[in-house]
Parts: sequence; C-alpha cells; structure tokens
Amino acid sequence: MALGREFVADWIARSAQAISEHRSELITLDREIGDGDHGENMDRGFTAVAVKSGDLPADATPADVLKVVATTLISTVGGASGPLYGTAFLKGSQAVADRAELDGAAIVAFLTAARDGIVLRGKAEVGDKTMIDAWTPAVDAAAAAQAEGRSEAEILAAAADAAQSGAESTDPLVARKGRASYLGERAIGHRDPGSVSTTLILRAAADAAAA
Ligand code: ADP
Ligand code: MG
Ligand code: MG
Repeated sequence: MALGREFVADWIARSAQAISEHRSELITLDREIGDGDHGENMDRGFTAVAVKSGDLPADATPADVLKVVATTLISTVGGASGPLYGTAFLKGSQAVADRAELDGAAIVAFLTAARDGIVLRGKAEVGDKTMIDAWTPAVDAAAAAQAEGRSEAEILAAAADAAQSGAESTDPLVARKGRASYLGERAIGHRDPGSVSTTLILRAAADAAAA
C-alpha cells in the first residue's frame, strides 16, 4: 500500500519519540568522539518538527510535510548534523514533489536524494565514520528490496536494518570527517553518533509504514 501524508506524520512522531528516548545515548556517543551535543541537538530539532508539521493544511502532500521537516531541522538542530539532515529532507522532498502517496520507487527516490544531499554538503564517503555509513547501505538495501518487488514497509525495514549494520560498522573506524576526525586513532572503538540517529529515523519510518 502506497504511503500518504498520514504516514509522514506518523514517521515524524515516531522519530521524535525515538530521538527523545535515545537522547542520552546520543549525548554519550557524541561525548566520546565529539562535543556531546548530538542528542540535545536532535531532540530539540525533532520536537520542533513534530510541532511545526502539525500546523500544515489538510491537503498538504508528503513533500510539503517533508519540506517543513527540512526547514525546521535547518533552523533548530545546529552543529554539523542540522544542515546535513536539513539538506537530506529538502532534497528528499524535492524528489517526491507532487506525489499524493509514496510507492516503493518514490521511497527509494527519497532516500537516494536525501543521501546525495548529505554527500553534496558534507563530502563524506562510506568508511569516513559519519552518518553516510548508515545512509548509503540503507539506500542500497532499499533499492534492492524495491527491485525485488517488495512492499513499502519491507523496503523501509530493509533500509533500517542496513542502517543499523552500517552504524555498527563505524565502531572500528578512524574518522575522516567531522569533529571525530580530530581524534585520530582515539575514535577507534566508538560508534558514530550521526549513524545512530540516522538508524533511529529510518527505523521510525519502517515502523510507521508497518503500522
Ligand atoms: P557537531 O559535530 O557540530 O557537534 P552533531 O554532534 O550534531 O554536530 O553531529 C555530529 C554528526 O554529524 C557526526 O556523528 C556525523 O555522523 C555527522 N557528520 C559530521 N560531519 C559530517 C560530514 N562531513 N558528512 C556527513 N556527516 C557528518
Ligand atoms: Mg556534536
Ligand atoms: Mg556541536
């Protein structure tokens, strides 16, 4: 079943809930290899997103809602991750503009454009120990699931599972982008916080699609 505006609203609500529940975990991860603000930044941003997206008119499309997510994240999250997540949702919303509902192809288009937006802004590659280590496997897994003709919920579950593995894959890495890159080998053994928040957001999407 294609996913409409209610799906996007549920996705946002579940993301805000998950980020809030994992706030201190994200703070701890960012304290280990960054400046400790990722949980606070993301919680502030998604709390604002949940409020702002509720103000939209009833005929708003998924892309309209996703654009509000983008602008709200850009203005409230701050740090490195605010502009990156903001660009992700902005490019993703443009990729699904004017669709009343998101089918599997639209979901893959959204995820691909979101990831490409992050890369355009942050210039990270897989293996640099950033949120891209979660996003790129997620995009690849979603595209593979879509090519197999799987449902929207299955496509998003495949993306979330791959993001989770991708986040785990950052543990042994030295960071080449972001604050953690200042630490050199001291970043080894710690998970990248942005890859964990990405996993939470994609898992929220999968849960919303399955609900
Ligand atoms: P800051 O580092 O400015 O305090 P946050 O703590 O909110 O910002 O976000 C840190 C996260 O941002 C990192 O864990 C990483 O996933 C992500 N990040 C940082 N720089 C980049 C980059 N150039 N490309 C992709 N992601 C990045
Ligand atoms: Mg930080
Ligand atoms: Mg900071």
